[in-house]
Amino acid sequence: MLKVKNISRERSAELYAKAKTYFPGGVNSPVRAFKSVYGTPLFIKKGDGAYLWDADDNQFIDFCCSWGPLILGHNHPAIREKVIEVMQNGMSFGAPTALENELAELILSNNKFIEKIRFNSSGTEAVMSAIRLARGYTKRDKILKFEGCYHGHLDALLVKAGSGLVTFGETSSAGVPKAYADETIVVALNDKEALVKAFNDFKNQIAAVIIEPIPANNGLLLQRKEFLQYLREVCTANGTLLIFDEVISGFRVGFTGAAGLYNIKPDIITYGKIIGGGLPVGAYGSSAEIMSNVSPEGPVYQAGTLSGNPVAMAAGIAQLTELNKPGFYNSLDEKTTTFVDEMLDFVKDRNYPVNITQIGSIFWFAFDTKAAIRKAEDIDPHSMDRFKTMHQELLNRGVYMGPSGYEVGFVSAAHTTDILNTAKQAIFDSLDVVFGPSQPSPGGRALNEQTDYRE
Ligand code: PLP
Repeated sequence: MLKVKNISRERSAELYAKAKTYFPGGVNSPVRAFKSVYGTPLFIKKGDGAYLWDADDNQFIDFCCSWGPLILGHNHPAIREKVIEVMQNGMSFGAPTALENELAELILSNNKFIEKIRFNSSGTEAVMSAIRLARGYTKRDKILKFEGCYHGHLDALLVKAGSGLVTFGETSSAGVPKAYADETIVVALNDKEALVKAFNDFKNQIAAVIIEPIPANNGLLLQRKEFLQYLREVCTANGTLLIFDEVISGFRVGFTGAAGLYNIKPDIITYGKIIGGGLPVGAYGSSAEIMSNVSPEGPVYQAGTLSGNPVAMAAGIAQLTELNKPGFYNSLDEKTTTFVDEMLDFVKDRNYPVNITQIGSIFWFAFDTKAAIRKAEDIDPHSMDRFKTMHQELLNRGVYMGPSGYEVGFVSAAHTTDILNTAKQAIFDSLDVVFGPSQPSPGGRALNEQTDYRE
């Protein structure tokens, strides 16, 4: 068993106390506040390869990877050097640069699903623009989304299902007018019957169906290809646009994302995260015909002061150039599969009620189940207590996962087999604490003294 590390969090705690005086909840994005796990947020000082260092100089193997963008690991030299080179010439012009063309060429010449693209600065912006485009193009208002898919914090999609097979969205955030939520229909994933009913109930009213083709924001709710194929057919038959939100899956499960993996052509694809190499970039793409509706070519307005920012474009170019090299995804996926398979063998041997879902380099621990979960409602909220304990135990053993059991883990190219083996052992020991007779680590919930399990 790996020695437990009773990490000091004094500096992080001080920074968090200060941050609470500046920001609501002490953070600039809610999940970072550690509300779903024990302790207070770690303030990060540095990242390199597969590792993070916090403000107290504790070192962690990182499976959060900035929530997905860092598929090459932290501080990759190719990205860093390209960004520094481009920054020598200035950081923003609000005018076109050759770098935008270069990134677009790299994407479009390797992606048969889209012909034109528009860059902006976040996944939320990409989705918001895609929705407006779909509404402008179809001249319809309603949007259909799936319970358990997250598409950013735009009003129209901050809705959750009410009760019933097909529901109007109920706002899941204060400040979203009911009238907006009323334009959003919510159905369960993996439910053809609900989909058919929605299309019957709202004939000729649905502008777009939006889905994370690999739903990865509420656990990893892998859908059958057949369901996605059916979605494609039903959208085509009803004159509704199909939007694949590939902010996570884009460039993660392959250079052409889930569309390429399943070989299904959506009408619009949204990207974020990986496309920016760690800097803020979002994008949406479609056929030349649909994109011709976007301003200034067409009537659908969309703009951005920092859209196509040269430094962000440079990071994207450097990252995607690495991803486009032969064998990149095979090696990343193989490594992840071995890692996950060995963990599955472990939980099976121990008869722990855990399932680990994986696709490409994304993985997720589902507790209190051994079966694959495909719908949000099938996740037992009480199982999140297991994750809470595991998260704490992992931190004590030098492994950082996103601070919520609903979040997935990401493996990067910088996670070597040796690093994955070290992480795996920490995961085994932590699972033994969650399920077995082992006691919680002595640092417990307080975490004071300093030792290093790597010594
Ligand atoms: N769409 C999906 C599938 C996402 O996972 C996210 C963020 O996690 C978004 C949209 C929003 O992206 P951003 O946080 O960059 O606004």
